[in-house]
Amino acid sequence: MYLTQGLHRAVQQFPEKPATLCAGRTSSFRGLAERSSRVASLLQGLDVRPGDRVAILAHNSDCYVELLLGVWWAGAVAAPVNTRWSVTEIAYSLSDCGAAVLVVDDAFLPLVDAIRAAAAVVRRVVHVGTAPRAEGIDCYEALVQSCEPATDVRRGGEELAAILYTGGTTGFPKGVMLSHANLWCGAVTRLAEMFSPRDGVALLVTPFFHVSGLFRFVMQLVLGATNVIEPQFRPDAVIEAIERHGVTDIVVVPSMLQMLLDDPAFDAGRLRNLQRLSYGASPMPPALLDRAMHALPHVGFCSSYGMTETSGVVSVLGPFTQADRKDMGEVTRSVGRVGLGAELRIVDPDGRDLPLGAVGEIVLRGVAVMQGYWNKPAETATALRDGWLHTGDAGWRDAAGHIYVVDRLKDMVITGGENVYSAEVEAALMAHPAVLACAVIGIPSALWGEAVHAVIVLRPGANSDGESLREHCRTRLAGYKCPKSFDFVDSLPLSAAGKILKTRLRDEYLSRATA
Ligand code: ATP
Ligand code: MG
Repeated sequence: MYLTQGLHRAVQQFPEKPATLCAGRTSSFRGLAERSSRVASLLQGLDVRPGDRVAILAHNSDCYVELLLGVWWAGAVAAPVNTRWSVTEIAYSLSDCGAAVLVVDDAFLPLVDAIRAAAAVVRRVVHVGTAPRAEGIDCYEALVQSCEPATDVRRGGEELAAILYTGGTTGFPKGVMLSHANLWCGAVTRLAEMFSPRDGVALLVTPFFHVSGLFRFVMQLVLGATNVIEPQFRPDAVIEAIERHGVTDIVVVPSMLQMLLDDPAFDAGRLRNLQRLSYGASPMPPALLDRAMHALPHVGFCSSYGMTETSGVVSVLGPFTQADRKDMGEVTRSVGRVGLGAELRIVDPDGRDLPLGAVGEIVLRGVAVMQGYWNKPAETATALRDGWLHTGDAGWRDAAGHIYVVDRLKDMVITGGENVYSAEVEAALMAHPAVLACAVIGIPSALWGEAVHAVIVLRPGANSDGESLREHCRTRLAGYKCPKSFDFVDSLPLSAAGKILKTRLRDEYLSRATA
């Protein structure tokens, strides 16, 4: 099993079908395979050997897709770089994974000198795009045109396909080693659970450097389905692309869903072709799900759970529509049952199995689970114990096997000896009409150990204060779970994957408190 297999199959069965639609360009599967084989040859010409890492620092595009495929065609390992990182972070990841070849697009061309100065490991830089480039940087298009197609190395199975850095939500990102089998398994798990048809058109809007974007692309490849590619998430552009290309499938994180619904361009009629909307990556506030399902009654919603370390999703619920929901009850709050690629247990801090319904750490084992963290034996040993991946997520399971993720263990607040799940308090706050976004964190308290603190973004024009939000929480939550203090801010810091960076909020709070 190797990842280019899906491409070869598509070429054999439906060569002229559009594989990618991007910036007004369309490429067929035949065209994509032709270009990928030249990209492989280009890389071989730059001395890239099987197992070598090739870093890609670019926004999502059709070239990104042929680069990923070209890297695999040459038997090499893709190292997609987070486009939101600083030069120091970029240089760290390039040195960490030992990437001798770096590919950049127009947006990152101006950083090349600084990156080279900070990451000596980079021998060759290839530029995709039209901006004028300096000496010593190769032109991607000229190389692709001049290279003869290469033979597919067909390196696969347990061999590495990608080093993907984690979201960096809770600390410095770790390079997760994913094999061809890992990524294939993540894709097939989602496919099998969601019944996505081959004639669907997916909009790929989450970044390729994040597991949500990369494995979604692999799933489309395994299936042989068409991909519409947007360079970055902009709600109006996403709505426009869905309407124009008749998009049927989209994956979003909750913060993106909220931005889509709030955008003046939003209109259910423009999204009439949309059939499936998957969400995950961070907790879905029930009030937001209610609003989205009411606004889009024709759409099947899929709840999913996973992480970089499991090559994407390990569990999926749905698709379910607003009409299905009445019969499903509380289950729509779950992230579904564990899928094809993994087994799951809920354990206590000593690794002992907990009974059904009890909250503990979610641990996973199976084909979907990573090979380890690149260059990080200590972190690998902490995460992978006796063959089980310790996710750092707290959750429970019902008798039918549905999994409920309650919080990250690091985000849980322990106040007066009671565990408070930040996600539960956030869900209650999000049900208040004045609250646009919020984050709940634990802050030091002499009395309680930690106290529950809420950081709130109010809707434009809304008028509310801590006292009325606390009253609102009291009607929904036990007293000890209600926030003891509030901060009102204009916006929350988000990671490149659209997750709230609570570590930063905690640091900001502490530096203010000690100032
Ligand atoms: P880092 O590991 O660097 O701190 P990260 O954990 O955000 O970053 P990812 O691999 O992108 O990196 O995210 C996986 C995590 O996202 C999961 O471990 C879980 O905490 C959270 N998550 C994923 N899906 C869901 C979901 N449906 N509901 C709640 N949380 C989710
Ligand atoms: Mg993580």
